Amino acid sequence: MPTERTKDHGAEELHKHYRVYETIGSGGFAKVKLGQHILTGEKVAIKIMNKKDLADDLPRVKVEIEAMKNLSHQHVCRLYQVIETSTQIFMVLEYCPGGELFDYIIAKDRLSEEETRVFFRQIVSAMAYVHSQGYAHRDLKPENLLIDEDHNLKLIDFGLCARPKGGLSYELMTCCGSPAYAAPELIQGKAYIGSEADVWSMGVLMFALLCGYLPFDDDNCMILYRKITRGKYDNPRWLSPGTILLLNQMMQVDPKRRVTVRQLLDHPWVMKDYNSPVEWFSKQPLCHIDEDCITEMAVNMKRSRESTTALVKEWRYDHTTAIYLLLLSKKQRGKPVRLRPEPAGCEDSCSPLHQGLQTREALHFSEDEDAVIVGSLDLCSEYIDDCPWVSVPQHTPQGVRGRPDGTTNKDTRLTSPSVERRCAYSPNPERGRATPRRQERGENKENKENSGDIFALPPPRTPVSSKKNARPNKNVLTTPNQNTNTSGTKSNAVTPKGGSSASKEHNKKGAAENKDSANLEILAFSPERRSRSLDMAVKGDSGGKKKRGGKVFGSLERGLDKVITMLTPSKRRGLRDGPRKIKAQYNVTLTSQTNPDQVLNQILSILPEKNIDFTQQGYTLKCQTWGDFGKVTMAFELEVCMLQRPEVVGVRRQRLKGDAWVYKHLVEDVLSTSRI
Ligand code: ADP
Repeated sequence: MPTERTKDHGAEELHKHYRVYETIGSGGFAKVKLGQHILTGEKVAIKIMNKKDLADDLPRVKVEIEAMKNLSHQHVCRLYQVIETSTQIFMVLEYCPGGELFDYIIAKDRLSEEETRVFFRQIVSAMAYVHSQGYAHRDLKPENLLIDEDHNLKLIDFGLCARPKGGLSYELMTCCGSPAYAAPELIQGKAYIGSEADVWSMGVLMFALLCGYLPFDDDNCMILYRKITRGKYDNPRWLSPGTILLLNQMMQVDPKRRVTVRQLLDHPWVMKDYNSPVEWFSKQPLCHIDEDCITEMAVNMKRSRESTTALVKEWRYDHTTAIYLLLLSKKQRGKPVRLRPEPAGCEDSCSPLHQGLQTREALHFSEDEDAVIVGSLDLCSEYIDDCPWVSVPQHTPQGVRGRPDGTTNKDTRLTSPSVERRCAYSPNPERGRATPRRQERGENKENKENSGDIFALPPPRTPVSSKKNARPNKNVLTTPNQNTNTSGTKSNAVTPKGGSSASKEHNKKGAAENKDSANLEILAFSPERRSRSLDMAVKGDSGGKKKRGGKVFGSLERGLDKVITMLTPSKRRGLRDGPRKIKAQYNVTLTSQTNPDQVLNQILSILPEKNIDFTQQGYTLKCQTWGDFGKVTMAFELEVCMLQRPEVVGVRRQRLKGDAWVYKHLVEDVLSTSRI
């Protein structure tokens, strides 16, 4: 299927149809920005890649795009549109405001068995579907599972996936993925079956959910590989016998003795409390064309329904595909299947669907900078609501063309129920539990086996060891009123107490938020509780329904932040004098302190010791660590902010780049050493 390719017009095609907001993540290849589709008002994630930077990795992106075009499932992040220019590739994706599953785990230390089951069933569902389509994911880890607005998981990052021509039972040779999640046969460089390797990674992932750390972990890659090939790990004492059994079945060194995805669908542990197997078939098969969406598009395009259907069925992943899939997404969430009305006075010729919006917002986009938006956020709020999935006409899963184990037998009787239910809600997971400690792990396995020590993976990135690399710098300026980086140079940003920085912009926003923080569980920060944070995003989420103004608020907040940033200095002045007042979310670590300047000072004094470069913009510290060859190995933000009720200081953390577990250890180290 062709992609939409525009020559020499850079991001024009993108800006014609989308508003582009701030960066919400970045990965090995890409920067991901929040966007809004103008015609439907739907939020999207826009993954932006520069071809020059991709170099040898360009084929990976092509692989990812082709895979995502073929995959349509409730637990796989949906691709809406691909725009390729001579220099860039834009992938417009389903937006997942809940962030990475990884961040969710570290915020909660670990998840209860019940909550793990909710997520694990969704992971099994996604993997069974992906395998049924002939793909192995090969990079399954909590960073590649995002949480959507209904707290459901969506699988991303298909850049390393494989689709063997003869079906998934054919052996693969390429060694890829993240070492800690890689199956023994993979790191030993043996031929392997993709679906079997994915099951191993699912075991590692499930362990990480339940424990908050990895089963196989070591700074030394040879030791790590040895641990993996031996397959020995310690089961902490809080794991139930049933959980230990399932983990053991997934993390079997011999892939032939490993449980299969098909067996996982109705595994007793997976079925517990549900009494029903995992529904893995697609609830959104592409072969089913929704009549309501077609009607709305046909009216808007002034075409016949037949020709509109034919156009959609081409699946070009151009703007037509995007409109159709975004309308469908609206419908599935109970929103009206409506495109935005044409601007007043607009004649036929300027129908948005014919030409793209002629009345483009004053939107400037740069490849390197965050997109700058001038526009009304009313548009955002107009479309933000909290409709969960609701019933829509049922259809049989005609899109299913394989089996959950990925074999090529086309017989779908084994797995396709004739009727499917739309509601994807799961029982409300238990959320409260005691804070675990790593030392509590019981050692019930011995590491006595020898391994061949034949490893095919490159060494994992060396974690930034704060102790080893500590480079005390007593000269660091710790007052919050100075904008410094570790080189001692002044950054462009202005001080928290200065006259014109972003840090002055917080007061206004503070007034616009903090509506429902009364019922929060507040956990004061202590070294013992390190990464334990508030979990606001899921509070009030019982029954699977999201409260109005819940998680979506975070992105609105960011949008507002951006708009305020756009104001001229004179307008900005006086808006904010202190740290931002934010709603507690699970990426915010609470302190027991009330003075934000003191907290900022404490963090500032620690960063140089941990070998972390930073620039300060008001109360936000943009941090980086560097590798041996002058490459940035880790990028993250720490923002000192104020919580309300009680008015305590919080530290918002956001990983932008780098290994998730190294980031976890580093940030925990910084925050606990800061004694905040
Ligand atoms: P790469 O392919 O370069 O590794 P990813 O696809 O992993 O990039 O995206 C990088 C990060 O951007 C993710 O870890 C996530 O935090 C964020 N991100 C990616 N896709 C989405 C999305 N659909 N919704 C919200 N955030 C996203």
